This record gives sequence, C-alpha cells and structure tokens, in this order.
Amino acid sequence: MQVVLRKYGNSTVAVLPPSVLNQLGIKAGQPMTLETTADGRIVLAATRRYTLAALPPLSALDTCLCMGASLGVAHGIERGLPPSERRQVVAVIGDGTFFHSGLTPLVDLVYNHAHTLTIVLDNRTTAMTGRQEHPGTGRTLSGEPSAEVSIAAIARAMGIPEVVQTDAYDLPRLGAELDRLLAAPGPSLLVNRGACVLLTRAPQGPVLVVDPVKCDGCRRCLVVACPALALRGSGKAARATVDAALCTGCGFCAAHCDRDAFSPLSGGA
Ligand code: SF4
Ligand code: SF4
Repeated sequence: MQVVLRKYGNSTVAVLPPSVLNQLGIKAGQPMTLETTADGRIVLAATRRYTLAALPPLSALDTCLCMGASLGVAHGIERGLPPSERRQVVAVIGDGTFFHSGLTPLVDLVYNHAHTLTIVLDNRTTAMTGRQEHPGTGRTLSGEPSAEVSIAAIARAMGIPEVVQTDAYDLPRLGAELDRLLAAPGPSLLVNRGACVLLTRAPQGPVLVVDPVKCDGCRRCLVVACPALALRGSGKAARATVDAALCTGCGFCAAHCDRDAFSPLSGGA
C-alpha cells in the first residue's frame, strides 16, 4: 500500500499499516499531502510500533515507511524541500531498530550536513518482537553478559555535535532538551531511556484512582495516551477511570489534571 506524500521531481512514498490507514480513514492508493505541525515541523517514524503515535490523541507522526527508514526518509525530505520550505525534520527510531538498520543512515546524515534531530526511544529491549536482547542491552540473545554498545558514544564518534541522553520519566528535562536540540544548527541525537515496564515489572509509584466527584470529564489527562486510562459514560456524566491492572503509577496523567482528581489507590502497589 503506497501513499504519495509530496513530489519534488522524485516522489516520497510511505507504507502505513492497515490498522493506521483504517483509523485515519485513508484508502489504498489515495494521494496525500504532507501534513506538518503548527510550527512547521515534520516528524517521521521508523517502525510499526511507533505508528501508534500517529493516532489521536498524540498525533505526533507524519510518515512511516519500514523498520529503520525514519532516518533516511527524514534526510531525503530535508534535502528535497526547496530552500523556501526548509524546516526542522525529526526522525524517531527504537533502540533495537537503531542497531538493526539505523547506523548506516545516521552516517549519511552526518556526512551530508543534515540538520535532522534523531530521537532514539531506548526501552532497553527489542519490544516489538518479544523483548529480545540487542547490542545495547549488555546481554546476548541467550542472556549471557556481553559488551554494552552505547548509542550515544556511537553518535559522538560519528561526529554529531549534539548528543544527549535523557530519562523518559523526567519530562521537564526532556522538554527542555528537545527545545534546545530543535534550535541547534547541526544534526543532533537524543537517546530517551526508560526500560519497558513489561521488562522490569517495576512500578514507578502507587496505582492511581480517579475521584468521580472531582473529575468533570474534561479529558485533559487522556492526552498521555496511557492504555490504563479510559473515559466512562457520556456527555456531562463522562468520567476518567484507571485500570488498576495496567497502571504503573508514573503519574503523567495526574500532572495534567487541574482538579486534583487522581489519588493513590488505597492498599495498592
Ligand atoms: S484531567 Fe482530571 S478532571 Fe479531566 S478527565 Fe482527567 S481526571 Fe477528570
Ligand atoms: S499513573 Fe501512569 S500508568 Fe497509571 S493511569 Fe496514569 S499515566 Fe497511566
């Protein structure tokens, strides 16, 4: 299935998973224009797992081609845009995919003076295929201790001037670093690290519950797109709820609630 994004002599083509096409209401072969964010940025995704972020409420991705393609496509768009339309392009890739097929296009980005910001979502595993080890985890596929290859060190060795590693749960610092890197002149790379909760099984805090009296169903907390959150009821009776079996206590939802409706589940983890 191919969707033409934009033509400047050569075409840029994206293949989207059927589930995403269905959600977006796009039919096979339907021409598309390349959508950008309000401030003119284009965001690309590498593989199927990140295409979840293409859907509301995140609506954070514009294209998805195949495993590891985000860096090369980002570079192609950056080079293909006429000078009057040049803008920041962001490529997103996972840690496992980075070792699988992200190294070569990263070399090309550096070599060709790209401005692209590459974000490596480092969840310390190859989650999409079943949480296998990879060269960045420090263990072989059979679980034996091994060399831990540093993505940040590779990027610095390639000559990328701005390389940052952030904690996925430290949102203030992550936001500040993204703002800084998006304004940086050369190529940059950010490794956002937070181990997959299915791997660690370690909660970040107590399981939360929503007080249905305080909650007014404003939906602000739903913007974090957490699978544990849902809105029950309709109209003025709608209220946010938390599935205690899925909540890891990260607190991201509560940070978006200005009605103080979240609290720890009594007797919870
Ligand atoms: S942000 Fe607070 S008030 Fe709004 S829906 Fe979520 S819990 Fe309810
Ligand atoms: S605390 Fe975190 S895991 Fe729990 S419902 Fe809120 S966003 Fe989801």
